[in-house]
Amino acid sequence: SATESLPAFDELGLSDEMLRAIENLGYTAPTPVQAGSIPVVLEGRDLLAAAQTGTGKTAAFLLPTMNNLEHIAPPKPVRERGGRNRRRGAKKPEGNGRGPLMLVITPTRELAQQIDEVASKIADVTGHVAVTVVGGVSYKPQTAALKYGCDILVATPGRLVDLIEQGACHLDDVKVLVLDEADRMLDMGFWPSVRKIIAKLPRERQTLLFSATISGDIQTSMPTMLKDPAQVEISRSGQ
Ligand code: AMP
Repeated sequence: SATESLPAFDELGLSDEMLRAIENLGYTAPTPVQAGSIPVVLEGRDLLAAAQTGTGKTAAFLLPTMNNLEHIAPPKPVRERGGRNRRRGAKKPEGNGRGPLMLVITPTRELAQQIDEVASKIADVTGHVAVTVVGGVSYKPQTAALKYGCDILVATPGRLVDLIEQGACHLDDVKVLVLDEADRMLDMGFWPSVRKIIAKLPRERQTLLFSATISGDIQTSMPTMLKDPAQVEISRSGQ
């Protein structure tokens, strides 16, 4: 019930590194969707979560998956990283040259940017490389970033399909798939693109599906996407 107290972040099984990232994010206690999702995702289970924007769902999927990436494949050392760690006049970053280990598909550019912000803050601590590709902007920086290599790829469906078809993005190394706001992707007509992307992924993977509502169309698609998923249901009023 709403009066029941939630566990603390350090009782969920997250690494010390991840707890430092949470401190950097400024979160002091987990939201219900975080408390419900983090332990089962850390175990490697698939997840079906009914949670809307504003419930803390972004950190609910990024914290445990990025925690697990540490074991799946530690970040490859790169001589020079891009962004804020790059020294003035330093050599161009070499990158790790690999394809994403984790793919987050989200319906809109705004959501992709929000996810990118949280992923980058966590990556500052873990050393992973996050790349975001969205529509409506030029391809060149995106293809360059993909060539450079990344651990986490955040993408809107249409642009990702284009990049796959251009041969600029391969998804053979993906171990974790997150479908964010699945109901909105359905409403916006992105489902055929989402299915096309999923067909390119290894079958052996962890899949998390977040949706405000679990509609008939999502239920129909679920058996091909999720294996024995843990279920978390959070209403906005239940926060
Ligand atoms: P989201 O549902 O992921 O869009 O997150 C909604 C807002 O809640 C964002 O502004 C987050 O920064 C914030 N947030 C997420 N988790 C927490 C937390 N555990 N404590 C405080 N704020 C949070």
